[in-house]
Amino acid sequence: MADTAIQQKSFLSGRVAHFTESVIREMTRQAMLQGAVNLSQGFPDFPAPAEIKLAAQDAIAADINQYAITWGAKNLRQAVARQMQVWQGIAVDPDREITVCCGSTETMISTLLAVCNAGDEVVIFEPFYENYGPDAILSGAQPRFVRLRPPATPDGEWTFDERELRAAFHNHTKAIIVNTPNNPTGKVFTRSELELIRDLCVEFNVLAITDEIYEHILYDGTQHISMAALDGMRERTITINGLSKTYSVTGWRVGWAVAPPAITDAIRKVHDFLTVGAPAPLQEAGASALGLPPSYYQGLAEGYRKRRDRLVPVLTEAGFRCFLPRGAYYVMTDISGFGFANDLEFTKYLVKDIGVATVPGSSFHNDARDGAQQVRFAFCKRDETLDEAGRRLRKLRARK
Ligand code: GLN
Repeated sequence: MADTAIQQKSFLSGRVAHFTESVIREMTRQAMLQGAVNLSQGFPDFPAPAEIKLAAQDAIAADINQYAITWGAKNLRQAVARQMQVWQGIAVDPDREITVCCGSTETMISTLLAVCNAGDEVVIFEPFYENYGPDAILSGAQPRFVRLRPPATPDGEWTFDERELRAAFHNHTKAIIVNTPNNPTGKVFTRSELELIRDLCVEFNVLAITDEIYEHILYDGTQHISMAALDGMRERTITINGLSKTYSVTGWRVGWAVAPPAITDAIRKVHDFLTVGAPAPLQEAGASALGLPPSYYQGLAEGYRKRRDRLVPVLTEAGFRCFLPRGAYYVMTDISGFGFANDLEFTKYLVKDIGVATVPGSSFHNDARDGAQQVRFAFCKRDETLDEAGRRLRKLRARK
């Protein structure tokens, strides 16, 4: 009888039926299994800055080993507020407007859980970082996708259609997620694009949730503009950022949301019951990291610019059509020259036979068919890693 009862009852929440596990994370596991060069998941394979590793060691030695304040260690919140002022000219109250979470990943889901109700819609540009879809679903909201169109020429820009964006806004729209610099396309939203989004947010009374984790990784003279810095947006923007990409510490899991006090209260409540707090000593180290001089950030961007310019010609030579990124550390490519039925077959072939792990384009799309001739490469890797990937990818060219 017990057996039948067990069989009849579903032990799983209906919520999890609507999405799959992360393909990005799965590709890293595949790379490890197959001994492939891992250009899939976006994490550096080079050391984090020595100063901030020392700061973390010092914090542990100084016995900062118990819970930090739930919504974030004071030192880190003060450092975030100070740097928002310096970098974006945005005044932030560190006591009432910042919540530190376990990475920007937890920050995003805590934010969506804090602001969304069942029936709300969240506008998301597509291709999108794969977490946003499940995040919206978990928070009870319905994602609504607006297409970013690839450039016609390799060094052109990804664009969206103004009318299509406007058509995505209506009464049930609660928020729009804007990720700039963008993963996976490398697009850096311009001021006029952000103003257009701003105007719609104001007209339809919608929040902007911005993922600015690649804020400092910019190329070719592009400039990062925070949505919260635009007139009329401060009170309706939740700005998400973190240590992971700027300081090459993706495993530390320290991120934060900057939002007006009432929204911050709600995010703090969700965050408290989800995780209590982010790692205390790493928050202290984060406060030191945010104090690094401007030369650090210039070096970071220049280092990634060199890596981009090392990988892109190799990919082009191997037969990929590359869309040159203006920011972040990924390059989206078109694979139609290889004649594979779809991106999944192609990435499987790449990881097994060529020995390079990438992310299939479909994982950035709602409808798998839309990304079926694209793959994403991450270039946040040492020169040796990129060169080894290049050597392996040459075999691909021979096959064409
Ligand atoms: N942002 C990284 C990527 O897109 C990965 C982040 C993660 O896996 N949590 O590859």
